[in-house]
Amino acid sequence: RTTAPTSIVVFGGTGDLAKRKLFPAFFNLFIDEWMPVRFQIIALGRKQYSQEGFRAYVLENLKEFSRNNKFTEEQWLSFSEKITFLNFDITGENSFQNLNDKLTAFDVECNSRVNRLFYLSVAPNFIDSVSTSLKKAGMADEVEKDRIIIEKPFGYDKASAVALNELLNQNFKEEQIYRIDHYLGKETVQNILAFRFANTVFEPLWSNRHIESVQITVAEQVGVEDRGGYYDHSGALRDMIQNHLLQILCMVAMDAPVEFESSLIRDKKAEILKAVRRIKPEDINHYTVRAQYTDGEIKGNPKQGYKQEPGVDPNSSTETFVAMKFYIDNPRWQGVPFYMRTGKSMAQKKSCVIVNFKEVPNKTFANGTDSLRPNQLTINIQPEMDIRLSFMTKKPGLDMTLNPVEMVFDYFECAPDSPEAYETLLIDALDGDSTLFMRSDQVEEAWDIIATIQEEWKNGTYSPIYTYAAGSWGPEAANELLSRQGHRWLSAT
Ligand code: NAD
Repeated sequence: RTTAPTSIVVFGGTGDLAKRKLFPAFFNLFIDEWMPVRFQIIALGRKQYSQEGFRAYVLENLKEFSRNNKFTEEQWLSFSEKITFLNFDITGENSFQNLNDKLTAFDVECNSRVNRLFYLSVAPNFIDSVSTSLKKAGMADEVEKDRIIIEKPFGYDKASAVALNELLNQNFKEEQIYRIDHYLGKETVQNILAFRFANTVFEPLWSNRHIESVQITVAEQVGVEDRGGYYDHSGALRDMIQNHLLQILCMVAMDAPVEFESSLIRDKKAEILKAVRRIKPEDINHYTVRAQYTDGEIKGNPKQGYKQEPGVDPNSSTETFVAMKFYIDNPRWQGVPFYMRTGKSMAQKKSCVIVNFKEVPNKTFANGTDSLRPNQLTINIQPEMDIRLSFMTKKPGLDMTLNPVEMVFDYFECAPDSPEAYETLLIDALDGDSTLFMRSDQVEEAWDIIATIQEEWKNGTYSPIYTYAAGSWGPEAANELLSRQGHRWLSAT
């Protein structure tokens, strides 16, 4: 349990993220006794709610979105009394004064200046005014106690990310800033480090000596739904590759830190991002594939094409699918292709990492066995949560026939009700542990990796925009990206 008494302030407390993720996460942490004994949550929003009205709204949302929805009335009542709603206009000075009064009153009640966690769950254009006002009012000045959580997107290109970091660094110390990427809070993603660095059998194989290629897939079955207006200005490269997929890449490819300590782990991740080879403009078409979904069918239902979605420009050139190949220029990974793909309206919801090992060098079984397959390690992130290692065995019988089999570790079997990513990340932020949050240099490096691609795609000089039917696995060009090197996508195709 986190012990330090804390005031939690949610800017955007009436928004979508607060409703679906933040309140359910705080509530689950509370009933599992992870929250500090003394805390308050101040939800800020522009809507007019009475205290009872807001608490009733939170209760409704918990029933719908909380992983634990069989809680007792007593549990709810003891949680709800911690919540205060404050009508708030980010651009108004009075609002910050009112907030300050509430924070100070809780300090008085606790007989000490308690910790403060400010969650900026608002549109990025408000980060400037919120952080400047917090600074001006001196509300987040205690470096050891006060933390600011920032949601993605962290800028829309490298220059804007640098500007955002400069702005934040003017108002807070870097160690106070928690840039959230919820993928890093997922059990299965965190487990990549345990799997790699707490076992002796895998790490010696984890290099270009034994690994042929690595694949990272984050496929979504949903389309842009009602977020077409936002998505059309973003696209899959910015929305997914720059953050989630590159962060997963870091977990898979980083070297072992000497200790499991925040700055050491983040140093190792930053090293990998620095070592990712930048793609030259004239090579973009060789290394990347972008595409948009057209009409198709998902789960037996017709799905309209991207350009027909509400809020999307009918002439849009925004990509809803990206496949790409990266190389990492360091001794461990030299020459190993890292393939990534992500898309919306795809055949299946599936996030996974597949490590494809080299073929056995000896020819012992070269004749008479068509089924000889290289070992494959699959880390399923969602919705399946498991690790699978495929290996060859002799099929029982009189002749020497080979057969691939799997060893499986399944999360659902041992922990069917494991915490949600936001729970893990919130408890870490309450504890002052920034290991799973992104440091400014990581964010800027990740933007740097995709900078030439963003630029080229804007100009459209080298890269066509392919199409794929909604409900498929993407355009044929994404398969060709791998088949040129004798590879193929190994999760469902
Ligand atoms: P939202 O539009 O649903 O909510 C925005 C909130 O901001 C509302 O509570 C609104 O009252 C408040 N707000 C707007 N203008 C204000 C003003 N002048 N004064 C006071 N409050 C004001 O947005 P959201 O979907 O909850 O997203 C919040 C942040 O989280 C964004 O940065 C978004 O990019 C990020 N994010 C959201 C999701 C998600 O699933 N919703 C996922 C990842 C990241």
